[in-house]
Amino acid sequence: MSETPVHDYIIVGQGLAGSLLAHFLRKRGKKILVIDAFSSSSSSQIAAGLVHPITGRRLVKTWMADTAFPFAFKFYDELKKETGTSFFQSMPILEIISNAKQWNDWTGRKSDPEISDLIGERIDESKYSSCLHPFLHLVPILNSGWLNLPSFLHTIRTQLKNSHQLLEEEFDYEKLVILNDSISYKENKARRIIFCEGYKISENPFWSWVPMLPAKGEILTIETTGLPEENILMKSIFIVPLGSNLFRVGSTYSWSPLDEIPTEGALQKLTEQLDEILKVSYRVISQKAGVRPTVKDRRPLLGLHPQHPGVYVFNGLGTKGVSLGPFFASHFVNYLEDKTELIEEVNVKRFWNVGRKLDL
Ligand SMILES: Cc1cc2nc3c(=O)[nH]c(=O)nc-3n(C[C@H](O)[C@H](O)[C@H](O)COP(=O)(O)OP(=O)(O)OC[C@H]3O[C@@H](n4cnc5c(N)ncnc54)[C@H](O)[C@@H]3O)c2cc1C
Repeated sequence: MSETPVHDYIIVGQGLAGSLLAHFLRKRGKKILVIDAFSSSSSSQIAAGLVHPITGRRLVKTWMADTAFPFAFKFYDELKKETGTSFFQSMPILEIISNAKQWNDWTGRKSDPEISDLIGERIDESKYSSCLHPFLHLVPILNSGWLNLPSFLHTIRTQLKNSHQLLEEEFDYEKLVILNDSISYKENKARRIIFCEGYKISENPFWSWVPMLPAKGEILTIETTGLPEENILMKSIFIVPLGSNLFRVGSTYSWSPLDEIPTEGALQKLTEQLDEILKVSYRVISQKAGVRPTVKDRRPLLGLHPQHPGVYVFNGLGTKGVSLGPFFASHFVNYLEDKTELIEEVNVKRFWNVGRKLDL
Protein backbone atom coordinates (compact mmCIF):
# COMPACT_ATOMS: atom_id res chain seq x y z
CA MET A 1 0.00 0.00 0.00
CA SER A 2 1.30 3.50 -0.85
CA GLU A 3 1.84 6.11 1.89
CA THR A 4 -0.91 8.69 2.51
CA PRO A 5 -0.08 11.74 0.36
CA VAL A 6 0.94 14.85 2.28
CA HIS A 7 -0.44 17.20 -0.38
CA ASP A 8 -3.69 17.09 -2.26
CA TYR A 9 -2.11 18.75 -5.29
CA ILE A 10 1.28 19.66 -6.66
CA ILE A 11 1.04 22.53 -9.16
CA VAL A 12 3.95 23.07 -11.55
CA GLY A 13 4.19 26.70 -12.70
CA GLN A 14 3.12 29.89 -10.96
CA GLY A 15 2.12 32.02 -13.91
CA LEU A 16 -1.48 33.20 -14.19
CA ALA A 17 -2.80 29.63 -14.66
CA GLY A 18 -0.98 28.11 -11.67
CA SER A 19 -1.71 31.11 -9.45
CA LEU A 20 -5.44 31.01 -10.14
CA LEU A 21 -5.60 27.26 -9.51
CA ALA A 22 -3.61 27.68 -6.29
CA HIS A 23 -6.04 30.38 -5.19
CA PHE A 24 -9.20 28.33 -5.80
CA LEU A 25 -7.74 25.15 -4.31
CA ARG A 26 -6.61 26.99 -1.17
CA LYS A 27 -10.12 28.43 -0.86
CA ARG A 28 -11.36 24.83 -0.74
CA GLY A 29 -8.93 24.10 2.09
CA LYS A 30 -6.79 21.85 -0.11
CA LYS A 31 -3.16 21.19 0.76
CA ILE A 32 -1.06 22.30 -2.18
CA LEU A 33 2.58 22.64 -3.14
CA VAL A 34 3.54 24.93 -6.02
CA ILE A 35 6.82 24.36 -7.85
CA ASP A 36 7.97 27.29 -9.98
CA ALA A 37 11.26 28.44 -11.44
CA PHE A 38 10.59 32.18 -11.47
CA SER A 39 11.08 33.80 -14.87
CA SER A 40 10.80 37.56 -15.29
CA SER A 41 9.94 36.98 -18.95
CA SER A 42 7.12 34.44 -18.52
CA SER A 43 4.02 35.28 -20.53
CA SER A 44 2.21 36.38 -17.36
CA GLN A 45 5.01 38.73 -16.30
CA ILE A 46 5.13 40.36 -19.75
CA ALA A 47 1.42 40.58 -20.58
CA ALA A 48 -0.43 43.87 -20.77
CA GLY A 49 -3.29 42.21 -18.92
CA LEU A 50 -6.02 43.66 -21.13
CA VAL A 51 -9.63 42.59 -21.00
CA HIS A 52 -11.37 43.40 -24.29
CA PRO A 53 -14.84 41.97 -24.92
CA ILE A 54 -14.89 42.54 -28.70
CA THR A 55 -12.68 40.54 -31.07
CA GLY A 56 -11.36 40.66 -34.62
CA ARG A 57 -12.08 42.60 -37.77
CA ARG A 58 -15.70 41.44 -37.76
CA LEU A 59 -16.14 42.99 -34.31
CA VAL A 60 -17.81 40.04 -32.62
CA LYS A 61 -18.25 39.37 -28.94
CA THR A 62 -15.25 37.51 -27.50
CA TRP A 63 -15.79 33.78 -26.89
CA MET A 64 -17.38 33.14 -23.44
CA ALA A 65 -17.68 36.89 -22.78
CA ASP A 66 -21.12 36.48 -21.22
CA THR A 67 -19.94 33.86 -18.72
CA ALA A 68 -16.22 34.27 -18.14
CA PHE A 69 -16.01 38.07 -18.14
CA PRO A 70 -18.55 38.74 -15.34
CA PHE A 71 -16.89 35.93 -13.39
CA ALA A 72 -13.47 37.58 -13.84
CA PHE A 73 -14.72 41.05 -12.82
CA LYS A 74 -16.31 39.62 -9.67
CA PHE A 75 -13.19 37.59 -8.90
CA TYR A 76 -10.82 40.58 -9.21
CA ASP A 77 -13.20 42.67 -7.13
CA GLU A 78 -13.34 40.07 -4.34
CA LEU A 79 -9.56 39.76 -4.44
CA LYS A 80 -9.30 43.50 -3.93
CA LYS A 81 -11.51 43.28 -0.84
CA GLU A 82 -9.53 40.32 0.46
CA THR A 83 -6.02 41.72 -0.07
CA GLY A 84 -6.64 45.47 0.02
CA THR A 85 -4.86 45.75 -3.35
CA SER A 86 -6.57 46.81 -6.54
CA PHE A 87 -5.01 44.58 -9.22
CA PHE A 88 -7.67 45.21 -11.87
CA GLN A 89 -8.24 48.69 -13.28
CA SER A 90 -11.62 48.90 -14.91
CA MET A 91 -11.55 51.49 -17.72
CA PRO A 92 -13.01 51.91 -21.20
CA ILE A 93 -10.96 51.12 -24.27
CA LEU A 94 -11.20 53.91 -26.86
CA GLU A 95 -11.01 52.50 -30.36
CA ILE A 96 -9.42 55.13 -32.59
CA ILE A 97 -11.42 55.37 -35.80
CA SER A 98 -9.54 56.96 -38.67
CA ASN A 99 -11.73 56.42 -41.73
CA ALA A 100 -15.35 56.29 -42.86
CA LYS A 101 -15.34 52.53 -43.46
CA GLN A 102 -14.30 51.78 -39.88
CA TRP A 103 -16.89 54.25 -38.60
CA ASN A 104 -19.60 52.52 -40.69
CA ASP A 105 -18.52 49.13 -39.35
CA TRP A 106 -18.75 50.31 -35.74
CA THR A 107 -22.03 52.16 -36.11
CA GLY A 108 -23.45 49.10 -37.89
CA ARG A 109 -22.35 46.82 -35.05
CA LYS A 110 -23.78 49.17 -32.42
CA SER A 111 -27.26 48.29 -33.60
CA ASP A 112 -26.57 44.55 -33.15
CA PRO A 113 -28.01 43.49 -29.78
CA GLU A 114 -25.14 40.99 -29.42
CA ILE A 115 -22.63 43.76 -28.73
CA SER A 116 -24.65 46.98 -28.50
CA ASP A 117 -24.39 47.07 -24.69
CA LEU A 118 -20.58 46.89 -24.96
CA ILE A 119 -20.31 50.10 -26.98
CA GLY A 120 -20.56 53.28 -24.94
CA GLU A 121 -21.99 56.68 -25.75
CA ARG A 122 -19.89 59.27 -27.59
CA ILE A 123 -17.35 60.97 -25.32
CA ASP A 124 -15.81 64.43 -25.35
CA GLU A 125 -13.06 63.74 -27.88
CA SER A 126 -11.54 67.21 -27.73
CA LYS A 127 -9.01 66.39 -25.01
CA TYR A 128 -7.45 63.83 -27.33
CA SER A 129 -7.11 66.14 -30.33
CA SER A 130 -4.02 67.84 -28.89
CA CYS A 131 -2.14 64.59 -28.27
CA LEU A 132 -3.29 62.26 -31.09
CA HIS A 133 -2.86 62.65 -34.83
CA PRO A 134 -6.15 63.54 -36.56
CA PHE A 135 -8.82 60.87 -36.11
CA LEU A 136 -12.46 60.62 -37.09
CA HIS A 137 -13.92 59.35 -33.81
CA LEU A 138 -13.17 57.52 -30.61
CA VAL A 139 -15.49 54.59 -29.83
CA PRO A 140 -15.65 53.63 -26.12
CA ILE A 141 -15.73 49.90 -25.39
CA LEU A 142 -17.22 49.04 -22.02
CA ASN A 143 -16.63 46.01 -19.74
CA SER A 144 -12.91 46.37 -20.29
CA GLY A 145 -9.76 47.22 -18.34
CA TRP A 146 -6.40 45.78 -17.42
CA LEU A 147 -4.88 43.58 -14.73
CA ASN A 148 -1.56 44.38 -13.11
CA LEU A 149 -0.29 40.83 -13.54
CA PRO A 150 3.17 41.17 -11.92
CA SER A 151 1.53 42.61 -8.81
CA PHE A 152 -1.13 39.84 -8.73
CA LEU A 153 1.51 37.12 -9.19
CA HIS A 154 3.71 38.64 -6.50
CA THR A 155 0.81 38.64 -4.01
CA ILE A 156 -0.02 34.98 -4.67
CA ARG A 157 3.68 34.07 -4.49
CA THR A 158 4.04 35.82 -1.13
CA GLN A 159 0.98 33.99 0.23
CA LEU A 160 2.42 30.66 -0.93
CA LYS A 161 5.86 31.45 0.50
CA ASN A 162 4.45 32.53 3.83
CA SER A 163 2.52 29.26 4.15
CA HIS A 164 5.53 27.15 3.01
CA GLN A 165 3.67 26.02 -0.11
CA LEU A 166 6.23 27.14 -2.69
CA LEU A 167 9.30 25.34 -4.01
CA GLU A 168 11.38 27.71 -6.11
CA GLU A 169 13.09 25.39 -8.55
CA GLU A 170 13.00 23.93 -12.05
CA PHE A 171 10.79 20.84 -12.08
CA ASP A 172 12.76 17.67 -12.82
CA TYR A 173 10.44 15.38 -14.80
CA GLU A 174 12.65 12.36 -14.16
CA LYS A 175 11.94 12.59 -10.43
CA LEU A 176 8.19 12.20 -10.87
CA VAL A 177 6.84 8.79 -9.89
CA ILE A 178 3.23 8.04 -10.81
CA LEU A 179 1.39 5.43 -8.78
CA ASN A 180 -2.23 4.28 -9.10
CA ASP A 181 -3.70 6.55 -6.46
CA SER A 182 -0.95 9.13 -5.90
CA ILE A 183 2.22 10.66 -7.26
CA SER A 184 5.55 11.44 -5.70
CA TYR A 185 8.12 14.05 -6.57
CA LYS A 186 11.41 13.88 -4.68
CA GLU A 187 10.32 13.75 -1.01
CA ASN A 188 6.86 15.17 -1.75
CA LYS A 189 3.76 13.02 -2.10
CA ALA A 190 0.44 14.19 -3.50
CA ARG A 191 -2.85 12.83 -4.76
CA ARG A 192 -2.54 14.69 -8.06
CA ILE A 193 -0.18 16.86 -10.06
CA ILE A 194 -1.29 19.70 -12.36
CA PHE A 195 1.08 21.09 -14.96
CA CYS A 196 0.75 24.84 -15.69
CA GLU A 197 4.01 25.64 -17.46
CA GLY A 198 2.74 27.95 -20.18
CA TYR A 199 4.49 27.44 -23.54
CA LYS A 200 7.21 25.41 -21.79
CA ILE A 201 4.67 22.55 -21.91
CA SER A 202 6.57 21.54 -25.05
CA GLU A 203 9.46 20.46 -22.76
CA ASN A 204 7.20 18.32 -20.57
CA PRO A 205 7.52 14.63 -21.56
CA PHE A 206 3.93 13.95 -20.39
CA TRP A 207 2.29 16.72 -22.40
CA SER A 208 4.64 17.68 -25.26
CA TRP A 209 2.25 16.06 -27.78
CA VAL A 210 -0.49 18.64 -27.21
CA PRO A 211 -0.92 20.71 -30.42
CA MET A 212 0.21 24.14 -29.29
CA LEU A 213 0.77 27.18 -31.50
CA PRO A 214 2.61 29.55 -29.15
CA ALA A 215 3.03 33.16 -30.26
CA LYS A 216 5.91 35.38 -29.23
CA GLY A 217 4.89 38.89 -28.25
CA GLU A 218 6.86 42.04 -27.58
CA ILE A 219 5.77 45.02 -25.57
CA LEU A 220 7.14 48.47 -24.65
CA THR A 221 6.84 50.74 -21.65
CA ILE A 222 6.95 54.40 -22.65
CA GLU A 223 6.91 57.68 -20.76
CA THR A 224 5.00 60.66 -22.09
CA THR A 225 3.25 63.71 -20.73
CA GLY A 226 0.07 65.19 -22.12
CA LEU A 227 -1.75 61.92 -22.78
CA PRO A 228 -4.91 61.43 -20.65
CA GLU A 229 -4.66 58.46 -18.30
CA GLU A 230 -8.28 57.47 -17.80
CA ASN A 231 -8.73 55.34 -20.94
CA ILE A 232 -6.92 52.62 -22.84
CA LEU A 233 -6.30 53.57 -26.47
CA MET A 234 -6.51 51.00 -29.25
CA LYS A 235 -5.77 51.14 -32.95
CA SER A 236 -3.40 48.63 -34.51
CA ILE A 237 -1.76 48.52 -31.07
CA PHE A 238 -2.94 49.29 -27.52
CA ILE A 239 -1.70 52.03 -25.22
CA VAL A 240 -2.48 51.23 -21.58
CA PRO A 241 -2.03 53.93 -18.91
CA LEU A 242 -0.02 52.59 -15.97
CA GLY A 243 -0.05 55.87 -14.01
CA SER A 244 2.71 58.45 -13.42
CA ASN A 245 3.00 59.20 -17.18
CA LEU A 246 3.93 55.60 -17.98
CA PHE A 247 2.10 53.59 -20.67
CA ARG A 248 2.33 50.00 -21.88
CA VAL A 249 2.36 49.67 -25.67
CA GLY A 250 1.95 46.46 -27.65
CA SER A 251 2.00 44.02 -28.83
CA THR A 252 3.58 42.07 -31.67
CA TYR A 253 2.91 38.51 -32.84
CA SER A 254 5.55 36.17 -34.28
CA TRP A 255 5.87 32.41 -34.42
CA SER A 256 9.59 31.86 -34.90
CA PRO A 257 11.94 31.87 -33.12
CA LEU A 258 10.00 31.18 -29.90
CA ASP A 259 12.23 32.86 -27.36
CA GLU A 260 12.04 35.67 -24.81
CA ILE A 261 14.59 37.95 -26.44
CA PRO A 262 13.48 41.49 -27.44
CA THR A 263 14.25 42.33 -31.06
CA GLU A 264 15.17 45.48 -32.97
CA GLY A 265 12.46 44.62 -35.55
CA ALA A 266 9.66 44.66 -32.96
CA LEU A 267 10.93 47.92 -31.47
CA GLN A 268 10.83 49.51 -34.90
CA LYS A 269 7.36 48.13 -35.70
CA LEU A 270 5.84 49.26 -32.40
CA THR A 271 7.39 52.74 -32.53
CA GLU A 272 6.25 53.21 -36.14
CA GLN A 273 2.69 52.32 -35.14
CA LEU A 274 2.96 54.58 -32.12
CA ASP A 275 4.19 57.46 -34.27
CA GLU A 276 1.08 57.08 -36.44
CA ILE A 277 -1.11 57.53 -33.35
CA LEU A 278 0.68 59.93 -31.00
CA LYS A 279 1.30 63.58 -31.71
CA VAL A 280 3.08 64.05 -28.37
CA SER A 281 6.69 62.95 -27.96
CA TYR A 282 7.56 59.92 -25.81
CA ARG A 283 10.55 58.02 -24.47
CA VAL A 284 10.89 54.22 -24.60
CA ILE A 285 11.70 53.05 -21.07
CA SER A 286 11.84 49.29 -21.65
CA GLN A 287 11.12 46.52 -24.14
CA LYS A 288 10.19 42.96 -23.16
CA ALA A 289 9.34 39.72 -24.95
CA GLY A 290 7.40 36.65 -23.88
CA VAL A 291 5.60 33.68 -25.43
CA ARG A 292 1.81 33.25 -25.23
CA PRO A 293 0.70 29.65 -24.57
CA THR A 294 -1.84 29.31 -27.37
CA VAL A 295 -3.39 26.00 -28.43
CA LYS A 296 -3.91 25.35 -32.17
CA ASP A 297 -7.70 25.51 -31.80
CA ARG A 298 -7.38 28.64 -29.59
CA ARG A 299 -9.21 27.14 -26.65
CA PRO A 300 -7.88 26.58 -23.12
CA LEU A 301 -6.57 23.16 -22.20
CA LEU A 302 -7.85 21.45 -19.06
CA GLY A 303 -8.04 17.93 -17.82
CA LEU A 304 -6.59 14.50 -17.28
CA HIS A 305 -3.73 12.73 -19.03
CA PRO A 306 -4.91 9.88 -21.31
CA GLN A 307 -2.60 7.29 -19.70
CA HIS A 308 -1.52 8.56 -16.31
CA PRO A 309 -4.04 8.79 -13.47
CA GLY A 310 -3.38 11.75 -11.23
CA VAL A 311 -1.63 13.78 -13.95
CA TYR A 312 -3.50 16.90 -15.14
CA VAL A 313 -2.93 20.01 -17.25
CA PHE A 314 -4.19 23.60 -17.06
CA ASN A 315 -2.80 25.62 -19.93
CA GLY A 316 -3.71 27.23 -23.27
CA LEU A 317 -4.93 30.57 -21.91
CA GLY A 318 -3.47 32.10 -25.07
CA THR A 319 -4.15 35.78 -25.62
CA LYS A 320 -7.08 35.95 -23.18
CA GLY A 321 -5.73 34.63 -19.89
CA VAL A 322 -6.89 37.56 -17.80
CA SER A 323 -10.53 37.36 -18.89
CA LEU A 324 -10.88 33.56 -19.24
CA GLY A 325 -8.48 32.37 -16.52
CA PRO A 326 -10.55 32.90 -13.34
CA PHE A 327 -13.66 31.18 -14.76
CA PHE A 328 -11.75 28.18 -16.09
CA ALA A 329 -9.61 27.78 -12.97
CA SER A 330 -12.79 27.64 -10.90
CA HIS A 331 -14.44 25.34 -13.47
CA PHE A 332 -11.42 23.02 -13.27
CA VAL A 333 -11.43 22.94 -9.46
CA ASN A 334 -15.14 22.02 -9.52
CA TYR A 335 -14.31 19.18 -11.91
CA LEU A 336 -11.43 17.97 -9.71
CA GLU A 337 -13.22 18.23 -6.40
CA ASP A 338 -16.91 17.80 -7.20
CA LYS A 339 -16.56 15.56 -10.26
CA THR A 340 -18.54 17.96 -12.45
CA GLU A 341 -18.12 17.70 -16.23
CA LEU A 342 -15.60 19.85 -18.08
CA ILE A 343 -16.88 21.93 -20.98
CA GLU A 344 -15.98 19.76 -24.00
CA GLU A 345 -14.39 22.60 -25.95
CA VAL A 346 -11.67 23.01 -23.32
CA ASN A 347 -11.24 19.41 -22.22
CA VAL A 348 -7.83 18.03 -23.20
CA LYS A 349 -9.72 14.85 -24.13
CA ARG A 350 -10.25 16.46 -27.53
CA PHE A 351 -6.57 15.65 -28.24
CA TRP A 352 -6.32 12.29 -26.46
CA ASN A 353 -6.10 10.42 -29.76
CA VAL A 354 -2.82 12.28 -30.45
CA GLY A 355 -1.38 11.39 -27.00
CA ARG A 356 -2.53 7.77 -27.15
CA LYS A 357 -0.89 7.20 -30.53
CA LEU A 358 2.43 8.14 -28.95
CA ASP A 359 1.93 5.49 -26.24
CA LEU A 360 3.28 7.77 -23.50
C1 LIG B 1 3.36 40.34 -25.13
C2 LIG B 1 2.19 39.66 -24.49
C3 LIG B 1 1.03 40.38 -24.28
C4 LIG B 1 -0.08 39.76 -23.70
N1 LIG B 1 -1.18 40.52 -23.45
C5 LIG B 1 -2.25 39.95 -22.87
C6 LIG B 1 -3.39 40.73 -22.57
O1 LIG B 1 -3.41 41.94 -22.82
N2 LIG B 1 -4.46 40.11 -21.99
C7 LIG B 1 -4.44 38.78 -21.68
O2 LIG B 1 -5.44 38.27 -21.16
N3 LIG B 1 -3.36 38.01 -21.96
C8 LIG B 1 -2.27 38.56 -22.54
N4 LIG B 1 -1.19 37.80 -22.80
C9 LIG B 1 -1.28 36.35 -22.57
C10 LIG B 1 -1.11 35.97 -21.10
O3 LIG B 1 0.18 36.33 -20.71
C11 LIG B 1 -1.34 34.47 -20.92
O4 LIG B 1 -2.65 34.12 -21.29
C12 LIG B 1 -1.13 33.97 -19.49
O5 LIG B 1 -0.37 34.84 -18.73
C13 LIG B 1 -0.47 32.60 -19.50
O6 LIG B 1 -0.24 32.17 -18.19
P1 LIG B 1 0.35 30.73 -17.88
O7 LIG B 1 0.39 30.62 -16.41
O8 LIG B 1 -0.38 29.68 -18.64
O9 LIG B 1 1.84 30.73 -18.49
P2 LIG B 1 3.15 31.51 -18.01
O10 LIG B 1 2.86 32.90 -17.69
O11 LIG B 1 4.18 31.24 -19.07
O12 LIG B 1 3.58 30.79 -16.67
C14 LIG B 1 4.24 29.55 -16.62
C15 LIG B 1 5.04 29.48 -15.33
O13 LIG B 1 5.59 28.15 -15.22
C16 LIG B 1 6.96 28.22 -14.92
N5 LIG B 1 7.58 27.00 -15.46
C17 LIG B 1 7.56 26.53 -16.73
N6 LIG B 1 8.21 25.37 -16.82
C18 LIG B 1 8.65 25.08 -15.56
C19 LIG B 1 9.39 24.00 -15.00
N7 LIG B 1 9.81 22.96 -15.73
N8 LIG B 1 9.68 24.04 -13.68
C20 LIG B 1 9.26 25.07 -12.89
N9 LIG B 1 8.55 26.12 -13.37
C21 LIG B 1 8.25 26.12 -14.69
C22 LIG B 1 7.42 29.51 -15.60
O14 LIG B 1 8.63 29.98 -15.03
C23 LIG B 1 6.24 30.43 -15.31
O15 LIG B 1 6.36 31.03 -14.04
C24 LIG B 1 -0.04 38.39 -23.35
C25 LIG B 1 1.14 37.68 -23.54
C26 LIG B 1 2.25 38.30 -24.10
C27 LIG B 1 3.53 37.51 -24.28
